Amino acid sequence: MSIVLYDLSEKSDTVNNFISKLRNFMAGRNGVDKLTYGLIAVYCIIAAVRVISGLYLPIGIIQYAFLAFIIYRIMSRNLQKRYRENYKFEQFLKAWKPYFEHLKLRFRFIKTHRFRTCRHCGEFLRLKRGRGKRQIICPKCGSELTFHFLF
Ligand SMILES: [Zn+2]
Repeated sequence: MSIVLYDLSEKSDTVNNFISKLRNFMAGRNGVDKLTYGLIAVYCIIAAVRVISGLYLPIGIIQYAFLAFIIYRIMSRNLQKRYRENYKFEQFLKAWKPYFEHLKLRFRFIKTHRFRTCRHCGEFLRLKRGRGKRQIICPKCGSELTFHFLF
């Protein structure tokens, strides 16, 4: 009769060893930041375009060069430069946030409403769907506006 002893502590030591090695390797490197996620999103778009267009070789080169750039940024030790890039990306997201919010609303109410911007005060207006020329009074500034709705 033989008893096989499986030493759990030994295994967890191996895992811990790997984690601490990885931590040492990543020390002083940029790692994953917000810009990394943005770049991964762009990478997915490139990959989709590659499949849809069927241009496997030329877009494949761009795709893998882009992936190499993403990995380079994660591994980079030039922290100042990477922080600056990430900061610019965050500023870009902040600047475009209202636009993204409007886009979300347009999709949410696509069946029932159409959206226009008041040319006097800039208010984003949600209007009931209906075709043709329509006159609307802006609820914020009271200006009379004329819009043409094609659909
Ligand atoms: Zn207005």
